Amino acid sequence: MSYPLQPVTLSSLGLAVLLFGGFVAALFLGSIVLPGAVHTGVCQPDGTCQRYKLNGLLLFVLLTGLVIIGTWGTRFSLLIVYTHFWSLCIVANAFACLLTVLLVYRGRRTQPHAGSAATDGRYQILRELWYGTELNPSWLDVDLKLFSYRPSLLGLGLINAAFAYVQYQLYGCISLRMGLYQLFTLVYLANYFQFEYGMLHTWDIMAERFGWMLIWGDYVVVPFCYSLPGWFLIDQTEALPPLSIVGLIALYLGGFWLFRGANEQKHRYKRDPDARIWGQPATTIGGKLLVSGFWGIGRKLNYTGELCMYYAWTLLCGFDSLVPYALPLWLMAFLMHRARRDEQRCQQKYGALWTLYCRRARFRMLPYLY
Ligand code: NDP
Repeated sequence: MSYPLQPVTLSSLGLAVLLFGGFVAALFLGSIVLPGAVHTGVCQPDGTCQRYKLNGLLLFVLLTGLVIIGTWGTRFSLLIVYTHFWSLCIVANAFACLLTVLLVYRGRRTQPHAGSAATDGRYQILRELWYGTELNPSWLDVDLKLFSYRPSLLGLGLINAAFAYVQYQLYGCISLRMGLYQLFTLVYLANYFQFEYGMLHTWDIMAERFGWMLIWGDYVVVPFCYSLPGWFLIDQTEALPPLSIVGLIALYLGGFWLFRGANEQKHRYKRDPDARIWGQPATTIGGKLLVSGFWGIGRKLNYTGELCMYYAWTLLCGFDSLVPYALPLWLMAFLMHRARRDEQRCQQKYGALWTLYCRRARFRMLPYLY
């Protein structure tokens, strides 16, 4: 069975512009007016320290509440997110391109030397479009890089919820697979927003400029591609063997423990070098690199944990089609490539200390294998 999708027409695109634009604008307005603790990010070598109002969790709770009340209490329907999927996707792509161009234009005017360090002028503009020009572009005091994770991940949550809604319309129930998928992904999103402060110590926020690479990832790849398993699960209504349920929940929880645990340990250590990790004072190399807890076992176990979670919810799709596996496979390749780039950066920044750390924590993502 399938639910009809709206063909892409001028009127469906117009509606998608209103939906997408309204969604992003509402979140932006919410980010300005809603209360939130203000945190200072990592200070740059030139001494500038970006400040961030962290109210993503409140936005997440409000949006989740609105969707629940709207779906059960009114005639509001998430179906439109599903039926207009392709129009929304086209509009999101257009928005990502527009924002990229606007930011490069603004960056070139306000910070003529902020772009890439490449000396070859022919490729300069391409590099600026791809990587961006400004490290922390902001508008109306909202940091656009951190803000963009909100429409990205809340958009993913809405699209996922729309898939559950469609299954309910088609089959009159939510299958166990779909229920687990919704639970797994909702906890993942809630964790992101609860741990939003941890983002301030991530590579993207500290070191990446805000160009098409990140913008397109936020506004297109995450909501429209990361929801792929949810789409497949609409028609997967057959039961799961009890052993598979237990195995997938264990894989998810194990991944969550690694992912959240490693990120949390690093964050606590960065804020307080005397923090205790697993009940012991943090041990370090040169007072700079944490070697306690997960960070002494592997250099990127936070990536491994996240991958386990993605595999857990993709495996709910079974093996009728391999298409949903494109998501965790792509993420695995992406994170492996990202780990290499990040380690090059760390090698440059920490020099001999990093070499010592690599000797101590010999493996990146999988002890004894990789
Ligand atoms: P990390 O959180 O691992 O941050 C890397 C930085 O941490 C390094 O550049 C370095 O920065 C510091 N660092 C590394 N090792 C140590 C150590 N032993 N002790 C102290 N500091 C250290 O990576 P990311 O920012 O890439 O990722 C953050 C999270 O986001 C991960 O869990 C990842 O899985 C997730 N993610 C998810 C994506 C998705 O699409 N689902 C995409 C990208 C990331 P410094 O200069 O501060 O020392």
